[in-house]
Amino acid sequence: MSLLTVGSVAFDAIETPFGKTDKIIGGAGTYIALSASYFTADQKIVSVVGEDFPQETLNDLKSRGISVEGIQIKKGEKTFFWAGKYHNDMNSRDTLVTELNVLEKFDPIIPESYQDVDFLMLGNLAPSVQRQVIERLKTRPKLIAMDTMNFWMDIAWNDLMETIKLVDILIINDEEARQMSKEYSIAKAAKKIMAMGPKYLIIKKGEHGALLFGPDSIFFAPALPLEEVFDPTGAGDTFAGGFIGYIARTGDISFENMKRAVIAGSAMASYCVEKFGTERLMNLSEDEITARIQKFRSLVNYQLEHVI
Ligand code: AMP
Repeated sequence: MSLLTVGSVAFDAIETPFGKTDKIIGGAGTYIALSASYFTADQKIVSVVGEDFPQETLNDLKSRGISVEGIQIKKGEKTFFWAGKYHNDMNSRDTLVTELNVLEKFDPIIPESYQDVDFLMLGNLAPSVQRQVIERLKTRPKLIAMDTMNFWMDIAWNDLMETIKLVDILIINDEEARQMSKEYSIAKAAKKIMAMGPKYLIIKKGEHGALLFGPDSIFFAPALPLEEVFDPTGAGDTFAGGFIGYIARTGDISFENMKRAVIAGSAMASYCVEKFGTERLMNLSEDEITARIQKFRSLVNYQLEHVI
């Protein structure tokens, strides 16, 4: 089934204890779309770039079945640029530069051919822009998922509250969940956030996995213990892309299927961090993805019946 992804398509510069990159391709929308493209062949993206953005990257997205008709190219303007530096533990990072450029006045135009999509993934963007996308779709998708970050909680709280009322599932990390709910306990935080609107909530805990909350159930997926993490940039977006891509592939929005989608997202994120930027996501095989999902299965699969 079809998926519409909305999110930044950007240039990033990344510094980790393993090395440093100049401007490379990044953006939440890019990571989501690449990750989801392994699960669904019918994906569309809405975003904006400047004249400086390489046509070959757009062609590359296209070659993966992603429609780029909804990526506006702004003449004479520059693409969104973000730079970040990770600390030694790789769990925390400092944002060094955020140049909004074309994102500053982003008006998300939905091409006519994008109407009637089955699923919508709203990547991290201004909540007012995320809301505009929902309002501009003539038919409500079967499931609307949304990401956000502390930046928007600080500067656009009211907009954020208006927007999360309209979505089915919010995908955030533990730090963001605590800030949003003003609760330290993750279970209390989840309850409060779900009272703000979304029926489902995913709280990502980095190397400690992810929790999926539903109206009356909770599911936990571990993260795969990896020997080397080169660059965590985009891991959260890649998780979201794998999650929503799996939902779009199966067309099933039951809690049971969301559990499988969380594993699919976790598997994709575990690949993303193995190389800098989007490199690893560019050339995965179906066999590799299946093998990683299998690793997750054996990581948590055990039998206890005959112990006592
Ligand atoms: P993540 O590591 O999952 O938080 O995502 C990192 C990606 O988000 C990078 O590729 C950035 O280009 C993009 N990004 C960072 N800040 C923003 C922002 N304020 N709005 C949109 N995208 C952003």
